Amino acid sequence: MPDLLPTVPDATGHFGPFGGMFVPETLMTPLQDLAIAYEQARQDPAFQIELDSLLHNYVGRPTPLYFAERWTEQLGGAKIYLKREDLLHTGAHKINNALGQILLAKRLGKSRIIAETGAGQHGVATATVCARFGMECVVYMGAVDMERQALNVARMRLMGAKVVAVTAGQATLKEAVNEAMRDWVGSVENTHYIIGSALGSHPFPMMVRDFHRVIGIEARQQILEKEGRLPSMLVACVGGGSNAMGLFHPFLNDPDVRMVGVEAGGDGIIPERHAARFQGGKLGVLQGTKTWLLANDDGQIELTHSVSAGLDYAAIGPEHAYLQSIGRVEYTYATDTEALAAFKTLATTEGILPALESSHAMAYVHKIAPLLPKTDIIIANLSGRGDKDVEQASKYLL
Ligand SMILES: *Cc1c(COP(=O)(O)O)cnc(C)c1O
Repeated sequence: MPDLLPTVPDATGHFGPFGGMFVPETLMTPLQDLAIAYEQARQDPAFQIELDSLLHNYVGRPTPLYFAERWTEQLGGAKIYLKREDLLHTGAHKINNALGQILLAKRLGKSRIIAETGAGQHGVATATVCARFGMECVVYMGAVDMERQALNVARMRLMGAKVVAVTAGQATLKEAVNEAMRDWVGSVENTHYIIGSALGSHPFPMMVRDFHRVIGIEARQQILEKEGRLPSMLVACVGGGSNAMGLFHPFLNDPDVRMVGVEAGGDGIIPERHAARFQGGKLGVLQGTKTWLLANDDGQIELTHSVSAGLDYAAIGPEHAYLQSIGRVEYTYATDTEALAAFKTLATTEGILPALESSHAMAYVHKIAPLLPKTDIIIANLSGRGDKDVEQASKYLL
């Protein structure tokens, strides 16, 4: 690992060989304009002040850094702290990014917002900020996902969003993204597309990361206050990779802080039964970016599976591909069974129902903490709350 990591992405959105802008020609200029506008907003104190104020008063930041005392005692190893993103308005980290992007859209003079959603969490965060800013909101969602996530569909509609069912292909997230892209190609003049993870074409992976960096910035300050030193290890689940990038990024230049990203191992590493892109994935291009993805030998995107809809995607964010390639972040996976066991442990030991996505990070903590000395400190990102997963968890655990 180099002493100090280079600043990425470069001006064309590359994280080493990963990332970039693989979009239809009509979107190239709007995306370059977006990158410029974002750069200006980032340096404008008025933008930061408005964002910080809303993060505090509307979203509920800062979130606590909670010492999981009973769980730590039970495991008998490293001290475990949980970054409580589950306590945010709408129940997950996703609102950090949705809020940042709608402020940017407002600045750009856009009046209409589109998004796509799998589990519905990003759709809910987007519908929320659209209601708050009085903007028209259209959310594309696979018809199959709409059925599985009926509660989130209702939440979006109650806040005034239009939820459009996508019936093509598998009728899940990948098809919803295609539909949102199709909309945007024809509507970019008045419409901003709020991408929900650290994915897609430049500048999205960078912007989404930056809007979530507040997680790591707070965690760093909080652990210094509580323990007087930096953590030994950070752990986060990785779907597209936004909650993990948010936690990791402010610590990247601290060589003594180990970082572990946990992907969805599904039923185990069997083709089409998992979503762990670093386990047998390939380098390829999907929906705007060059990164590791799950595809067959012809380059066709493979089916994926995870008990948690939010981790069930064939591609990983390009910055994770980069951090893996330079050996700065380690990646592992947790299976459905391990995630469900961790869900139960956290529920009964700490009185916290974690989202099934976050439960993957917790499953790794459960494995690693007992192997580390008591003097070590782990910070694990509790990216969301498990209320949305109660039905599924009950099916397996009760
Ligand atoms: C969407 C979601 C994830 C996965 O997305 P990332 O971009 O990888 O963070 C993780 N946890 C929760 C609670 C989510 O809603």
